[in-house]
Amino acid sequence: MELVEIKEGLARILVPKAERIYDAPVFYNPVMALNRDLSVLAVKAISPKRVLDALSATGIRGLRYSLETPAEEVWMNDINEGAFNLILKNVGLNFGVESVPEGGRAEVKLPNGKRLVVNLGDANKLMAEKFRYFDFIDLDPFGSPVEFLDSALRSVKRRGFLGVTATDTGVLCGAYRKACLRKYLAEPIRGELCHEAGLRILIGTVVRYAAKYDLGVDVLLAYYRDHYFRAFLGLKSGAKKADESVEMLGYLWQEKNGKFRYETGFLPEEQGAYGPMWLGSLKDEKFVEELVKLAKAEPDSIAHKKTLQFLSLLHEELDVPFHYDTHALARKNGLEVVKVSKAIETLRSLGFSATRTHFSPTSIKTNAPFEAVLKSMGNGKGC
Ligand code: SAM
Repeated sequence: MELVEIKEGLARILVPKAERIYDAPVFYNPVMALNRDLSVLAVKAISPKRVLDALSATGIRGLRYSLETPAEEVWMNDINEGAFNLILKNVGLNFGVESVPEGGRAEVKLPNGKRLVVNLGDANKLMAEKFRYFDFIDLDPFGSPVEFLDSALRSVKRRGFLGVTATDTGVLCGAYRKACLRKYLAEPIRGELCHEAGLRILIGTVVRYAAKYDLGVDVLLAYYRDHYFRAFLGLKSGAKKADESVEMLGYLWQEKNGKFRYETGFLPEEQGAYGPMWLGSLKDEKFVEELVKLAKAEPDSIAHKKTLQFLSLLHEELDVPFHYDTHALARKNGLEVVKVSKAIETLRSLGFSATRTHFSPTSIKTNAPFEAVLKSMGNGKGC
């Protein structure tokens, strides 16, 4: 394969030259540098000792973890032999060490005492081998992460952390309802709430999988961007913790005029429910503040030009379930579209909290009731 050298964060890597990213023999998507920037910041904040980049492709993620975070032992794994060989090359490029693979695995001890392991094989097989071994596991697959969740929850320590990406947004957002029922055992919603509901279905699924092992889940930060979902999750050991997380699962209902309602509970009491899905927070304030601080302290570690702006949007966003899309509300209620900034100002002047949301530039997160939101839209008189 023809290779070109690029730089991302503090890593230099060789990536395959290709007309379109999905045609390349080993996958590298520069747009996902924002995902990796936030992941590097998260790993810095969490400070795990042993990290697994379970679906590594070029090795960029694992290499950045070992170059830019305090992680002492970083494993990079891929099932594709071309990817495995490229990761070995990229380790050599960054650390100037030759790694000789033995039986599909190469281990490198760096002069600073850190350890790198490059593995060729199925991620589930590797995670089954390394029972309760990793402090942080990164799942960044093509499509859905569900096929890796059980192994990851057994391979991570009971008070460890997971970084989970899902790129099957069509499934989680209701374009392929049957696939959502099959993979996530959840009813997806279409329309303006589909991205937030999709993210909450993904988290809800991890909560259900984790609960089997008497593990509770803390959402450190979860977001939607560029047609993927990403969640950083902290695990809590104990049946009671698992119960508390399961108690945060529930359902969403939406009326024709856009008014929504959600309720925690095991089974929906009314027809027309979407879910089950996570109805708890999508961020831990202190964690996000730490990411902002780390990002400002080491700007060299930020590879994507939108990372800081996006992180501060996440930081400022009101953390309440769901949001109102001004365009959808206007359409459904015969109102004129009002500027998001204007509607936010009106809601605040009425004494409510209201912010923009990363889910959509035309939407508002607020603790105001539906009627107050309609009022902020000018009640059909235009404004
Ligand atoms: N994490 C990478 C990054 O940030 O650039 C991108 C990973 S890419 C989306 C998914 C990778 O998973 C591919 O390289 C593919 O070969 C690998 N893969 C697919 N199924 C796998 C499996 N069962 N075990 C290990 N690797 C697998």
